[in-house]
Amino acid sequence: MQDWIPNGPEQFASDNYSGVCPEVMEYMQRANEGSVAAYGNDAWTQRAADAFRDLFETNCEVFFVFNGTAANSLALASLCQSYHSVICHELAHIETDECGAPEFASNGSKLLLASGAHGKLSPAAVEAIATRRTDIHYPKPKVISLTQATELGTLYTIEELQAIQQVAQRYSLKVHMDGARFANAIAALDVTPADITWKVGIDVLCFCGTKNGMAIGEAILFFDRKLAEDFDYRCKQAGQLASKMRFISAPWLGLLETGAWRRNAQHANDCAAYLEQQLLQIPGIELMVPRQANAVFITMPDAMIQHLRDRGWQFYTFIGVGGVRFVCSWSSAYARIDALIHDIKAGVAPS
Ligand SMILES: *Cc1c(COP(=O)(O)O)cnc(C)c1O
Repeated sequence: MQDWIPNGPEQFASDNYSGVCPEVMEYMQRANEGSVAAYGNDAWTQRAADAFRDLFETNCEVFFVFNGTAANSLALASLCQSYHSVICHELAHIETDECGAPEFASNGSKLLLASGAHGKLSPAAVEAIATRRTDIHYPKPKVISLTQATELGTLYTIEELQAIQQVAQRYSLKVHMDGARFANAIAALDVTPADITWKVGIDVLCFCGTKNGMAIGEAILFFDRKLAEDFDYRCKQAGQLASKMRFISAPWLGLLETGAWRRNAQHANDCAAYLEQQLLQIPGIELMVPRQANAVFITMPDAMIQHLRDRGWQFYTFIGVGGVRFVCSWSSAYARIDALIHDIKAGVAPS
């Protein structure tokens, strides 16, 4: 049989274009030996949940699902009734990229959109929405959802999270964190996972493994354990209970036990910093938002965008602010960044 490998060289369209990191592959291999109980009643899943409790220094409830859309949607559904609403940024993934799944999973909880610089919710914007109406005709605000790192690759500082926590407390709102790039945020802020979650009032975190180096899998952490009541049933009903759960939990253990989760994120951030620095030396390219984690958002002339596409480069221009987004991952190679920069420069060279 002829080898058929359609995979091309690295692209910077998204961190989920990457493959599986070696640590994850090794734990997948180990989990593949012999047979174990199904549906999460196995030692891998127990150990992975314990590893999260150690890492976050708290006795949280831990669940594993297949993807981020499900994690966010089911987590939000557990925080509110159908007549409640969720305050989020207008660029939030739950608003722009989940096909209405949060509303679907919650039987109609409405998303209320706030604007805010650099993809971040401001306490004032949240408060304005929380106090806009108090009458029976309006879906009652119940949850704040924020993304760390944000959809624009920016970060909430501890102080910013504390300010949002105060608003949440004032108006009895729960707080959900979309941690699609939580590891990148931890690496960039140089804080502990506890520092930017339960210590600043986050009730539930969706921690993405896929973008961090896994094939498939997200962890949902309930710091307020009461909110996790019957959550296992919610996952099962939504088709998110893996029968061979060990192939999600063992890779997670691989990331956590070896420290790869943080190394992978640090590498991605370092690559993005290098890419940013190279890009900014090219005339006609400007940064759209500060680069703080593993994504770089820039504007570049249309001709340059076309030139890059013609040369086979893949990237998104529809995310967030309408510029070009490049994202680095655990597997990004500096040589490949150099190749991208080379091709951009070739496109601007006077002919
Ligand atoms: C990637 C991502 C998710 C998860 O997306 P899925 O494709 O459903 O796994 C959630 N939130 C943000 C901000 C993301 O970038």
